[in-house]
Amino acid sequence: MIGDMQKWSPNVASIIEHAKQFHPETEVISRMVSGDIHRTNYDEVCIRSRKLASALVKDGYKEGDVIATLALNTYRHLEMYYGISGMGAVTHTLNFRLHPEQAVYIINHAEDKIIFVEAPFVPILEALKDQLNTVEKYIILCDQSEMPDTQLKNAISYESYIEDGDENYEWPQLKDDAACALCYTSGTTGNPKGVLYSHKSNILHAQASLTAMLIKPSDSILMVVPLFHVLAWGIPYYGPMFGLKLVMPGMQMEGEPLFDLIDREDVSLAFGVPTIWMGLLAYCRENNKILSSVKNTIIGGSALSLSTLQEFDEVHDVNVIHAWGMTEMSPLGTTNVPTLEMESMSKEEKYAIQLKQGKPIYGVELKVVDDAGNDLPHDGESQGHLLVRGPWILQKYFKAENDAVDKDGWFDTGDISVLDQDGYMTIKDRAKDVIKSGGEWISSIDLENAAFGHPEVAEACVVGIPHPKWDERPMLFIVTNTGEEIDKQSILDFLASKVAKWWLPDEIIFLKELPHGATGKLQKFELRDEYTNYYMENKNA
Ligand code: AMP
Repeated sequence: MIGDMQKWSPNVASIIEHAKQFHPETEVISRMVSGDIHRTNYDEVCIRSRKLASALVKDGYKEGDVIATLALNTYRHLEMYYGISGMGAVTHTLNFRLHPEQAVYIINHAEDKIIFVEAPFVPILEALKDQLNTVEKYIILCDQSEMPDTQLKNAISYESYIEDGDENYEWPQLKDDAACALCYTSGTTGNPKGVLYSHKSNILHAQASLTAMLIKPSDSILMVVPLFHVLAWGIPYYGPMFGLKLVMPGMQMEGEPLFDLIDREDVSLAFGVPTIWMGLLAYCRENNKILSSVKNTIIGGSALSLSTLQEFDEVHDVNVIHAWGMTEMSPLGTTNVPTLEMESMSKEEKYAIQLKQGKPIYGVELKVVDDAGNDLPHDGESQGHLLVRGPWILQKYFKAENDAVDKDGWFDTGDISVLDQDGYMTIKDRAKDVIKSGGEWISSIDLENAAFGHPEVAEACVVGIPHPKWDERPMLFIVTNTGEEIDKQSILDFLASKVAKWWLPDEIIFLKELPHGATGKLQKFELRDEYTNYYMENKNA
């Protein structure tokens, strides 16, 4: 028997319309490229999104066209999320830190028809323009007076483009499961793969996310996560859905400008990856500043370390919510919010739980399997491949012929995890990064976190390097606080008190900086490639 309720073919534009109607005055703050702070609200963002949508329709663009953005976190990017997707086209967010070859591949693969580009990124596209086969027009995110001198085809300023758009544009009724947005994975091998989200999956993901991160209607949210990275974890949708004040840092992600923005905009909830928070915490430490308005911070994208958790808690009285997800999951899979039981725990016990990636949000199913695909017990010890399933999880990569899931709908995340009796999931490693030593596994993440606890270590990276006897052995790369080398033995002694003896790295290498990818993740393959013969040549075997 079929239920008698109304059919639902959602359009994300209904979110910004809701915000306009019920939270019109709620502010949207952006730090612009110039450094100036721009203030607008949901009423204006909605009207300008309608104008953009109608300008695109007038210009001949239609449902299903793919339209790209190469843009920073500002109100204009938010308008594009609604203006482009709302008229039925697909918003394709491009990462401005992509390697040029990857950018060309992605733009051609997606068949982008327009690229909306931030003025400072115009030179990036000018260098690539002759290889971009499908782009018909470039819209520069500025007003007419700020237009750069450019050779980009049919270049026009954003403000001129939307100027004559219709303020009263009416959003179309879209087909069931209509495509909404497109992001490519930051894959380290092979070509990047596209994940094509639907209006429905984005709305369901946003609604579920709202239940899982202690978000309150009075929150002022700092959106450090880029709008080009997995749709900024859904904030551009659930922010307006819940009437939250949005604070966007534009280009300035260093400690000082972030602190300044947090302070002046009374930010209560901040979202970002660990590397950004390390910069902010270092700035606060060196300048005796306290994050007094911030109540919660959501940290995901890479593993949270104990020292970051402790510093947020003990110095700033900020609660850390550890979260895990991935591009293929829209992205949210698990979050770790305080429970009643935690209230009566010691700090150490509480921290031990907070370092786990958390419990699945409603709608996401998780399981861990061995190499043969057998389910592993939820005992906090059995580690295996983490598989996921749910309505905002990928079925198939963009333009791929085959599904990316098994016959029962499970998607293999590529992460190695354990599940425990209480339902918490802990990431041990990426399957490709876990170190296979003498038939046992060493978690590079656990070893990095242990090294990171050393008072003189600013950043740590552990990589499995081929070894003649043990298959692979860990190598530890360190950036110290001063940038100078320190006594290796002192680090080994420190680690020996935290991990099993056979986990200790066979070599420690000091670097001035670690290789980070376009979304802030460590590029371990670069170090692995560079040092791949190190133990084989018996330098330290
Ligand atoms: P991306 O698709 O670029 O967002 O990368 C997703 C991957 O980042 C996941 O599969 C994990 O390996 C990693 N990741 C995300 N969040 C966390 C976290 N909280 N702890 C450890 N790894 C994480």
